[in-house]
Amino acid sequence: MPSPSCDIPSLIKSQALSLGFDACGFAAASPVDDKAIAQYDRWIEQGHNGCMQWAAGHRDLRRDPSMLLEGAQTVISLAMNYYPSRFQPDETLRVAYYAYGRDYHEVLREKLMKMAHFIEQITHCATRPCVDSAPIRERYWAQRAGLGFIGRNNCLIIPGKGSYFFLGEIITTAQLPPDDPCEMTCGDCGRCAQACPSGALNNEGAADCSRCLSCLLIENHEDILPDWVDGVIDNKVVGCDDCQLCCPHNASALATTVEDFSPTEAVMTMTRQRVESMTSGEFKRTFAHSAISRLRYKTLKRNAALTDSKHQ
Ligand code: SF4
Ligand code: SF4
Repeated sequence: MPSPSCDIPSLIKSQALSLGFDACGFAAASPVDDKAIAQYDRWIEQGHNGCMQWAAGHRDLRRDPSMLLEGAQTVISLAMNYYPSRFQPDETLRVAYYAYGRDYHEVLREKLMKMAHFIEQITHCATRPCVDSAPIRERYWAQRAGLGFIGRNNCLIIPGKGSYFFLGEIITTAQLPPDDPCEMTCGDCGRCAQACPSGALNNEGAADCSRCLSCLLIENHEDILPDWVDGVIDNKVVGCDDCQLCCPHNASALATTVEDFSPTEAVMTMTRQRVESMTSGEFKRTFAHSAISRLRYKTLKRNAALTDSKHQ
């Protein structure tokens, strides 16, 4: 139990670092600002959430995180690096870096639970940890808590560190001093919009998820994808990193030290032939603790069948 003179915000931030988080910041748990609400509403109205129908739900909760925990005072935003130290061999089908290792939901949930327990002990306040488990606008809160800014590629970019970060939040009834929001922007760079193989990004930073390969390959479970996907999928089978790979903020990304995010054997050997011969039972066993399990067996097979046949 810290003495009254202890600096609770500093204790929380140093605990986050010791648990393996790379950044931690605080924002007041007030409603999302009008401009961000209008942007989101327009994105939904234009159908740019694509197959992510869930994004249209719980609009009231997305607007006000204090509805997620009675008496909420602060949103604590946390980021953890997943940039790999090893990469897939050339002959394998591309898996987005976020899915290389153990399912980040599992890893972050464990760490967030430890953080939440620590915060409850030192503040005697309630907490609610979130890792894709509540309708909260995590990049918005990360920007407001000073972690970084939202790039045109729609990723949270941490200045000097890049965008290969998982985000998590802890909503708490503890009143913590808000950090200054990050005011950086992409400036006149537009490399991600140029690099996007399917034209899903525009220069204003709006992503049309109905054209985003990452969304289509992961969230769309129809038997058949739109015809145009065939011409742009190349060797991608799980997600797409193109708009991060080209971003200058990732030029000096450092490899994660979290062993759980190292690429699994299944990822390092994922050829088209390997996916084609995989049984449903093998899929379940192999990806039981991987974000790839969320794709579903049939979706992985569908994606692999579409990839360029040179990646056999
Ligand atoms: S993930 Fe790929 S398809 Fe989606 S916006 Fe980025 S570059 Fe385009
Ligand atoms: S590539 Fe350029 S425009 Fe796109 S997110 Fe990075 S800095 Fe911003």
